Amino acid sequence: MEKAKLHVFFRRVSTKGQDITIQEAADLYYREKLQSENIMIINENAISANKKSINERPEMQKLISLITKNKVSALYAFDRSRLFRDHYEGMEFNDLRLAYNVKLIYTSTGNGHIQASNDIFVEGLLNMFSDIEGKNIARRSEETRRRYPPQIMGYKKDKDTKTYSKDPNKKEYIDQYFTALTYVNTIDELRAVVKEYQKNLNCSSELSLINMASNPFYAAYDLEKGTNRLSHVDPYITLETFNQLQETKSELFKTYVKQVEQQKLQVAMYAPICGYCKKRLNYRHNKDSNQGFFTCSRKEHAKNKVKIPFSELEKVIDFALQEIVHKLDYKLLSLHSVKSFKKIKDQTEAEISAINSKIKELTEEIVLSSRHYSEDWKNDHRYKKVNSLKMERRKLLEEITLKEEFLQNNKKLSGIVQSYLSDRSKVSSTLLYSLFINQVFIYEDEVDIEVFTFNYLRDLHTEMIYVGDESAWN
Ligand SMILES: [Zn+2]
Repeated sequence: MEKAKLHVFFRRVSTKGQDITIQEAADLYYREKLQSENIMIINENAISANKKSINERPEMQKLISLITKNKVSALYAFDRSRLFRDHYEGMEFNDLRLAYNVKLIYTSTGNGHIQASNDIFVEGLLNMFSDIEGKNIARRSEETRRRYPPQIMGYKKDKDTKTYSKDPNKKEYIDQYFTALTYVNTIDELRAVVKEYQKNLNCSSELSLINMASNPFYAAYDLEKGTNRLSHVDPYITLETFNQLQETKSELFKTYVKQVEQQKLQVAMYAPICGYCKKRLNYRHNKDSNQGFFTCSRKEHAKNKVKIPFSELEKVIDFALQEIVHKLDYKLLSLHSVKSFKKIKDQTEAEISAINSKIKELTEEIVLSSRHYSEDWKNDHRYKKVNSLKMERRKLLEEITLKEEFLQNNKKLSGIVQSYLSDRSKVSSTLLYSLFINQVFIYEDEVDIEVFTFNYLRDLHTEMIYVGDESAWN
């Protein structure tokens, strides 16, 4: 006798323990009618069908493998969103189960779900709706994160009651921080406040303090869609204070965030190098002075003070860039670029034309000499020669393109220098840096800046004395 096929109950739980009971209750009606040896239950935990493809879901793989081995007679699921991420997956799965004659039963009929049909068109439509449902789930979980963040500065979360009470260790500082923010009027004042409380609250990122100031959770509200009071949160500020803060300071907050991001970019761009061991310096943050600085990872070099605060390096580079821009003979640079490009181009084109005639010559020779078709024509030395000539030609063409890019760059550079000289604010220092500076080396009491256009710098002092800001070092 053929072994009876399985009835598979496929359950999914996206958030811990949230709705497994509902699914169990819904499929009980079907399970009661079956022999226990014919029942197989597959619980898929903690992965959302909305995010992962069927291939990334091992339980789903198991189910598919059972189906393809012809071991499944019916499949039970709560609704479509438990099974598929989107319409296409749904269609594919549906093809598979029809091919193996597996009945599909949705157990949540009471909730307005339509039973699976064997009509591919209808099933396709239903899967599309499941698609929409999946997106709703994503939206819902985003809302959950907003209203029930797993962790949030200044709060202790009670896992059982799902309430948020103020963290006694941080409570006072946070109260003070919000008060201090209301007095802030300039970006420098804001920076000072953020740095102070970053230290007090032992917080690694200054941006998280700005996020805190713009998060209505601290007023116990969710303002994403309408005004929703969160009764499970003990507020630090009132909604009025929150709104006022946004109205009066949001521009400052935005500017601040931009500046922090700009600095990150600069840190990556400067990437200074240790003058002694030629290793890239590390970027660190000094908690006490709230200063970022670069230092060599080798202890003996760090001891020798291969160490420079970010703000100091920025000033040194700015100082050097100004010198460079003012001393750059951009007219001469332009002229030389154009002239040398023309010269290189003429030369290269002459070479290419010589190669072309050589290729032509060899090709004719091959054609004329071979009266019979030869199996190993590819091994003919002339054929090989033609190929290598073609390669050479391609390289020369690439070279011209590259040189032309240089020329364009130099033209661009002249333009940028001119606009910088007429109005400094028009040109960003990061652009200037990328145009002029190749590398920066840090020594004990010297910064070496390697410049690209050195030959076009008139009367540039190769050594410049920069009087630093003592306070930045402490
Ligand atoms: Zn070093």
